[in-house]
Amino acid sequence: MRRPPQELWETDVLTFRKMRNLLPKYVFKSLENTIKQRTKLDVSLAPIIATAMKDWAISKGASFYAHIFYPLTNITAEKHDGFLSVESDGSAITEFTGKALVQGEPDASSFANGGIRSTFEARGYTAWDVTSPAYVLETDNGVTLYIPTVFISWTGEALDKKMPLLRSNAAMSKAATRLLKLLGHSEVATVNSSCGAEQEYFLVDEHLAQMRPDILQTGRTLFGRPAAKGQQFDDHYFGAIPERVQILTQDIEERMYRLGILLKTRHNEVAPGQFEIAPFHEEANVASDHQQMIMTILKSTAKKHGFMCLLHEKPFSGINGSGKHVNWSVSNATQGNLLDPGDNPHQNLQFLLFCGAVIRGVHKYGRLLRAVVATAGNDHRLGANEAPPAIISVYLGKQLEDVFNQIKQGEVTSSAPAGVMSWDVPTLPEFPKDPGDRNRTSPFAFTGNRFEFRAVGSNQSVSGPLVALNTILTDSLTWVADKLEADLAKGIELDTAVYAVLRQIMDLHGNVIFGGDGYSEEWQTIAVKERGLLNLTTTADALPILKEQDIQELFETTGVLTASELKSRFHAYAEQYIEVIKMEADLVISMAKTMISPAASRHLSEVSATIMNLKQIGIELEQENAERVASLTNQMMDTVKNLGNALNEHNFTTIEEHMQYCAKTLRPMMDQVRKYADDIEGEVAHDLWPLPKYQEMLFIK
Ligand code: ADP
Ligand code: MG
Repeated sequence: MRRPPQELWETDVLTFRKMRNLLPKYVFKSLENTIKQRTKLDVSLAPIIATAMKDWAISKGASFYAHIFYPLTNITAEKHDGFLSVESDGSAITEFTGKALVQGEPDASSFANGGIRSTFEARGYTAWDVTSPAYVLETDNGVTLYIPTVFISWTGEALDKKMPLLRSNAAMSKAATRLLKLLGHSEVATVNSSCGAEQEYFLVDEHLAQMRPDILQTGRTLFGRPAAKGQQFDDHYFGAIPERVQILTQDIEERMYRLGILLKTRHNEVAPGQFEIAPFHEEANVASDHQQMIMTILKSTAKKHGFMCLLHEKPFSGINGSGKHVNWSVSNATQGNLLDPGDNPHQNLQFLLFCGAVIRGVHKYGRLLRAVVATAGNDHRLGANEAPPAIISVYLGKQLEDVFNQIKQGEVTSSAPAGVMSWDVPTLPEFPKDPGDRNRTSPFAFTGNRFEFRAVGSNQSVSGPLVALNTILTDSLTWVADKLEADLAKGIELDTAVYAVLRQIMDLHGNVIFGGDGYSEEWQTIAVKERGLLNLTTTADALPILKEQDIQELFETTGVLTASELKSRFHAYAEQYIEVIKMEADLVISMAKTMISPAASRHLSEVSATIMNLKQIGIELEQENAERVASLTNQMMDTVKNLGNALNEHNFTTIEEHMQYCAKTLRPMMDQVRKYADDIEGEVAHDLWPLPKYQEMLFIK
């Protein structure tokens, strides 16, 4: 019997409520202040909190604890230490000191740091993030207490994905509070950003995946001819979930409930073998930690059930890739969701200003949004007709687009009514219709009470995108507040001043709003030629944005990243991009040489022997297949040779140049090798083919 979800809920999390029962009142109060009002943590109380945490963890079966942190590689890192300690008389006790809770010291030299310090200054610290709850995780290796932490260098620079997220939240809260006060609110609680991330993934039978060196090493298929059945029948999306997958999904859900991750939806995705899960949204920092857990749990649970979970953005060519839609909004306890338009958005000044601030931010810093989703994996997705284009525009929906256009024209009179869904079948219930349709082709869409950033890669940490969103919003809110403040000081009425700012936003930045088909070729031309938007199709084009002067200023003025932190990020990500492509190219060469070419040779020797034998008894066999396989194999091996030579090129003056070389020289050659190989696959005897094929991997039953 499965336990009902409400019984599993948060059993493995040391929640705020549990802390209340475990801690003396004055300690809890102090902690509560830190969590809710974002005051400084009183370190003198750490020993008491640490002991309570340890006792709780031991009661859950834990014997180790780990500071968990999020280095620049999109992965999760952890260092485990035991609670057990031995007294001078030899007796064993368990111990968890305040210092061990608050601060850890993993060796920082083995993590990507983009050159922020050299390895001889390897000291790095992890520091307890009180605002994300600790939890225990059960694996085959036992139970461990996990403590979310930030990871910083000895010089105090952020080496991770959490620190900037915390800073961006704090900056955004400050700017939002200032604006809310200008709008007349006297009581304004801390503002926080929220995130609900929809995660797409593929499931492949573990046995088949194990036979594919490309999947094992790069997470995607470097070769593979599309199966006859792709997604042309549109029959997988929302289709019945296969039973094997259902059993796995139940297990995943139970694990997530225990960890306090509220899964809301689960369904099949568009491509065969592709699925999606989405947790309910929560505050961005916790959501980001949970997102990392989701990725880990998906992979480890899939393995237990005989699957391999692929989080790569494009595991299979010819069918859809996987993304992560980051739903994002900002809210607080006193004013609620600041991106909620209500029924009459045209009169909702507060909403219009926050929404306008987002529009300005996306226009002014759209290229930053592009840069934070730039990875080797995501390059396969963005701009291909399945995912949003690499051009960053904003979709507002009919009603809001109309309101903002009225503002631009100078007179705001109405919000188009939402309307009612009614039918000519009387037994069906009527319900209110959403004021805007969805537009799946937009990379950044307003969806009722939040924005949905759809260009994020499935394998990525959501932190980078959230940091960018919070930071550009901070910048825009500050700009808006400056204007309003100046106008109000001149004695201008609030309403008039607000509409004036909004009109200015529309004049300067309205170009970024686009409600049409983002997949169309027409848009690519209009966006660039008429609207002046950028179309950065590769990571090599997009990452250098991080080095631009105004991006550096954006991060510095908001206090989210120093110039050297930003620079180190650029370097770390650029290196990752280059390393991924080099590794893939290497594997393309070795698979072509040691798997595909030998299969073609065997096929050829069989066919040629048959042709000769038949000839002896007077039968002519068509030679076309043999000629084709031979010619394709020769062409493939020529390209492999060229790719090998190209890989040996080391003469680059800048890392930017090296990235461009990967994008413009290596990648096309890899694609060319693949093209030949996939054509060979279509000609060679099935039983001689050394790799599991798409048709075998994609149709889980
Ligand atoms: P879609 O229709 O795009 O597939 P889903 O229903 O799968 O959307 O997921 C929507 C996600 O958006 C969920 O994670 C949900 O919790 C989240 N969400 C809803 N409201 C907000 C909000 N105000 N702020 C942030 N995220 C939100
Ligand atoms: Mg979505």
